[in-house]
Amino acid sequence: MGTQQTETVNIIDEAIISRTLEEAQAPDEGRLEELLAKAASLAGLTLPEAAELMLIDDPEHLHEMFETARAIKQRIYGNRIVLFAPLYISNECVGNCLYCSFRRDNKDLERRTLDPDEIRRETRWLIEHGYKRLLLVFGDHPKNNVEHMIEGIEACYSVHAGEHDDSIRRVNVNAAPLTSEEFVQLKPAGLGTFQVFQETYHRETYERMHPIGPKANYDWRLGVWDRCLPSGIDDIGLGVLYGLYDWRWDTLAMLQHAEYLMQTYHVGPHTISTPRLEPALGSDFSTHSPWLVSDDDFKKIVAIIRMAVPYTGMILSTRERPEFRRELMELGFSQVSAGSRTSPGGYTEHNPDDAPQFEVGDHRCLDEVMRNLCEQGYLPSFCTACYRSGRTGEHFMELAKPGDIQTFCLPNALISFKEYLLDYASPETRVEGERIIAQHLPQISSDAIRRSTEDKLRRTEEGERDLFV
Ligand code: SAM
Repeated sequence: MGTQQTETVNIIDEAIISRTLEEAQAPDEGRLEELLAKAASLAGLTLPEAAELMLIDDPEHLHEMFETARAIKQRIYGNRIVLFAPLYISNECVGNCLYCSFRRDNKDLERRTLDPDEIRRETRWLIEHGYKRLLLVFGDHPKNNVEHMIEGIEACYSVHAGEHDDSIRRVNVNAAPLTSEEFVQLKPAGLGTFQVFQETYHRETYERMHPIGPKANYDWRLGVWDRCLPSGIDDIGLGVLYGLYDWRWDTLAMLQHAEYLMQTYHVGPHTISTPRLEPALGSDFSTHSPWLVSDDDFKKIVAIIRMAVPYTGMILSTRERPEFRRELMELGFSQVSAGSRTSPGGYTEHNPDDAPQFEVGDHRCLDEVMRNLCEQGYLPSFCTACYRSGRTGEHFMELAKPGDIQTFCLPNALISFKEYLLDYASPETRVEGERIIAQHLPQISSDAIRRSTEDKLRRTEEGERDLFV
């Protein structure tokens, strides 16, 4: 973390957001049709349009809205769901965020920062269980400086394990915002997406939630992408921690942020995360917040983001329980974590005394999640081809906005899933998985791409690895 020289950036207009919410009215039947038709054409939603949809309570209208979100999800992502695991590198933190177990005042948490050998050990375990994509999570601490991030990313990529000398193919990072110079330093390490969640865009609430440490500076956090994007890192992940403030307000603010990025840099968020506040050790607030979001409202949030920013990947974590994850995936999520352990060393050490960052709602292992996805008709994917073929940032947006990214996604999902089935799946998952591959292969509309995919699936069966279109 470098020195914070904050320029006040004019990204979030609180007055506009509050006025939009005050003036919004629930749409009648005719207006609803109009709004949903616009969303279905992948044209997104303006802030006032999103605010109108937030007011829908009529069950039939809700149903129509969810159907539209489902159709958009299907149009852009089909049945594909990308899987990853978080790898907690450090729970050391100088912040005292009221909602988080990493907070400085929580004396019940054993603090730890993994060194490169420990990161390699965790990575080996993850590779040997079939993972190809990781999200490295760092607490906000001087130890977790950019050098440590680079060391961590390199440690992950350096591990080769399994019968086919497999390795991790994409490493994303969730950490405190960096300076422009640090982002420039980080880029060559092979970073996928850099995630920073604003947590809440509501300044007054933000300042109350983050009383000390670098994270106390709202503008420094909000301006992160104005340092990151010009440095050449152009896959960025936005997020709100739902439960800190009014979900309607924060959703509009996040949409305003996405719009600002699109207008300023022609790059919107590669991903949006919508964690919901979960009970956390040492945080009274995490169970007593007046803004906790109900399941019904959470479904609205997901559907509205899906309609408003149709091109963005949406990430669902294991905070949510399995049966609800299923409903949520239909409405918009395209990436899910599976088998997550949220304490540093959690995959290889299994120490029952290590407190997780927050309570996990889904305890299934990766293989079970993969099998359940297949049973529900989804196609699990470990595809990492876009980032490795240079389809990031603006180039990615050009393909993603009209929905054309499918051309690459479906074949690559099939090939990467086939590898998992051959190398790591249980016999039951293999049976389900082969059925799903056979079902989806004919859906590749171009004859040439379908033939090339068939060829790559055959070569994968014969032992070649890491093939993609
Ligand atoms: N140090 C990094 C930073 O400054 O953003 C973040 C690491 S933090 C462990 C990752 C994310 O976990 C946070 O951005 C927050 O949204 C989420 N989180 C924290 N406490 C949580 C809780 N009680 N329930 C759910 N998610 C939580």
